[in-house]
Amino acid sequence: MIRQTKRRTAGRRNFENGMIFQSSKLDKLYSHRLSFYDIPPLDEITLEEFELWAIDRLKVLIEIESCIARSKSVKEMESIIKPLLSKYLPISTLSKGNEKQIELERKKDHYSHFILRLVFCRSEDLRKKFIKTESILFKIRYNLMQPKEQTNFINDNNDKLNWSYINNEEKEQMFEQLFNATGSAIRSQLIMDNENLSINNEQLRQHVKMENFIKLPFEKIPHLLSARSIFIRNGEGYIPTTLQINLLVREFQNMLENNLIKTFQSLPRLDEDDRLLPVLNSLSRNFASVQYEVDSNNENVGDINSQSILTNEITKHYPLCGKHLQKTLSVNHHLRYQGRQQLGLFLKGIGLNIDEALKFWSNQFSANMTMEKFNKEYKYNIRHNYGLEGARNKYRPWDCATILSKPKPNKQEAHGCPYRDLNLDSLVSNLNDMGINDQKDINGVIEHVNKNEYTVACTKVFELTHKNMKGNENLHINHPNLYFDRSRQLEKSS
Ligand code: SF4
Repeated sequence: MIRQTKRRTAGRRNFENGMIFQSSKLDKLYSHRLSFYDIPPLDEITLEEFELWAIDRLKVLIEIESCIARSKSVKEMESIIKPLLSKYLPISTLSKGNEKQIELERKKDHYSHFILRLVFCRSEDLRKKFIKTESILFKIRYNLMQPKEQTNFINDNNDKLNWSYINNEEKEQMFEQLFNATGSAIRSQLIMDNENLSINNEQLRQHVKMENFIKLPFEKIPHLLSARSIFIRNGEGYIPTTLQINLLVREFQNMLENNLIKTFQSLPRLDEDDRLLPVLNSLSRNFASVQYEVDSNNENVGDINSQSILTNEITKHYPLCGKHLQKTLSVNHHLRYQGRQQLGLFLKGIGLNIDEALKFWSNQFSANMTMEKFNKEYKYNIRHNYGLEGARNKYRPWDCATILSKPKPNKQEAHGCPYRDLNLDSLVSNLNDMGINDQKDINGVIEHVNKNEYTVACTKVFELTHKNMKGNENLHINHPNLYFDRSRQLEKSS
């Protein structure tokens, strides 16, 4: 997959037709919807595919990470991740006539996993993050497969797993022992996966009858032995289907951990590749940069103008950082540089065009200064943000990661993220102003603040303030403009 020689400009393979299909890999490499990713990719792909496929996988992993931070159960995660998987990383079932599409989907899955290994092998923290999110992705996908498909997957990977299934006769003979030993662990696992589930003893018995048991030497399952959750006989542990997924995920994690270390050791060779390195660096530098794209030409949205952005109709959709900046500006008729940048670019992102922006800022500052002073000291900077001065770059609104990477505001400043920068009393008073008064809800937000999970706290506030709206999706706030856009969309569709 990675070029080992210097760049060839003549005679390079032509990718105009997109993917080049060699002999079908569906029978060998891509025979299952799930993979242990034990065989590295060898075909060439374009640089564009390299980057796009990695970004698509990253979007799914970021959402998983957000679910972990919000303590979502496996079932909740499944319902959040499923639509993202269909959009960014589908792994459809094979049927007659869709072989090419399936091969492309599985190839994307295969390559994107290996590309992100290159990105996330570089430090222990990154490796941990990657292993955790990839393991959950593996588990979700496993749960989406039919039981027959799961068994086929395990059978075909048995060279790595060394699992052996017991037959029905053996199971019937020892059913009572199996039920007594594993029943409560199965019940706990089922409830953990679906917290609303209630299951009586008879239902549990029926469930255990449906389970396929494997037996493994006890030294391979010390964690199950110490939990006393399985039946042991003659040095072998009997593990039901419900508990096998954790065992499978553990195998996946161990293999991935070893492989990430090996990838890290081979990085020096990769560092010579002048085409891949910038892509990998940009992927690893800013997790948030791939999340939400503000339309930078979005400067003409019908109802956004210098007057409307002062009304509750519009400001009620601002995240707390936007509200805090707007409030400070209204009180002081001034904002320091970082605050002007943060609010100005946010307003540009919601659709305030340059003429209306100049009107807005000059009106706000007029209580403190003459128009002449405003034109002399502030106008240039506002036009600069719209790409009309200097290098004429079209600057984008700051995302949460950028905001959180700036120095904290001092007493005269209002930029930053209020979940990080306000003291507890002010934060609670702001939450009250947003309609969050229930102490339990407030504690839930503060809990994330105390763990430095500011975007999770903001997401929680979004959920609380939009909870009665139809279509309130599971969304992780990573950008103030994302908060604004989704809040307005939800209002329109309710
Ligand atoms: Fe603003 Fe992001 Fe902080 Fe929310 S988390 S208040 S959107 S900076």
